[in-house]
Amino acid sequence: AKQKGQNHFQFYVASIDKEIRDRKLLEKDLSKALKNHELYLVYQPQVNLETGRIIGAEALIRWQHPERGLVPPDEFIPVAEANGSIVEIGQWVLEQACWQAARWASEGLALRIAVNLSAVQLRQGTIVEDILSTLARHKIPAGRLELEVTETSFMTNLADAVDKLRALHRAGISIAVDDFGTGYSSLTYLKQMPVQHLKIDKQFIRDLLVNEEDTRIANTIIDLGRSLNLTVVAEGVETAEQEYYLKQRGCKLAQGYYFSKPLPAREFETFVQSFHQK
Ligand code: C2E
Ligand code: CA
Ligand code: CA
Ligand code: CA
Repeated sequence: AKQKGQNHFQFYVASIDKEIRDRKLLEKDLSKALKNHELYLVYQPQVNLETGRIIGAEALIRWQHPERGLVPPDEFIPVAEANGSIVEIGQWVLEQACWQAARWASEGLALRIAVNLSAVQLRQGTIVEDILSTLARHKIPAGRLELEVTETSFMTNLADAVDKLRALHRAGISIAVDDFGTGYSSLTYLKQMPVQHLKIDKQFIRDLLVNEEDTRIANTIIDLGRSLNLTVVAEGVETAEQEYYLKQRGCKLAQGYYFSKPLPAREFETFVQSFHQK
């Protein structure tokens, strides 16, 4: 038994060792991804449930690695946050999203673009100026940009996060709390944060109408949004039943595979046109 335990331990150490090596390799590849043009954005439509119109899109990053294939953001974003490269990647995302929004505007497609802002980016001293100058460079009205932040953004330095988000909001940018309901002390932060939108995390939408708890949580967030005068966005909507329920329950915006997967810019444009012709 002892022998077996020891082997098991060695196996365990070896697997941690491999994990560290894998992570180092991923980090090394990621450091080259930007200049090798391996990163690109896809856009997922956000639909107004009352009018049935697409009002905007969330920009989501993709990494097409030459050998690894498509690396999911859930794998590389945490690595980029840990080593700080998210600052550069995040700036690129913002730049790219604004460029795209300007292009769409020039083609008569006036859509709001939602960009995910990491807590690490928000901690940067120059983030407010960086965002405002990017908007100005692309001549995008601030009202066209929405920033999605998670509750972790408020946790390290609440006063600093409040100041920065206030400044961004004063300039006309809207702020959404992403993954709402999955973090800590949501209500305390909500009171202080200059936020206008709540995004119900997709984990509560997945089993909506199947799991009673999830249905109650979604209802609670919708009611909370109404009483605090915040727009509620449901993410991860996959079925007609979910869409119908959310709509009649008073949730204003939704996104999810039921409408469309996140699409490359050109496909997104075609999708919007055909969606609005229906
Ligand atoms: P998120 O911001 O919560 O984004 C929602 C995720 O749900 C996206 O995964 C989206 O593709 C996926 N999704 C959309 N509709 C459905 C649906 O109907 N069903 C299901 N099961 N999933 C759906 P994705 O694109 O893999 O992104 C994962 C996470 O990576 C994002 O979660 C966000 O936290 C992060 N991320 C993505 N792009 C960026 C970025 O540009 N910057 C930063 N900082 N983080 C990003
Ligand atoms: Ca998001
Ligand atoms: Ca989310
Ligand atoms: Ca997330």
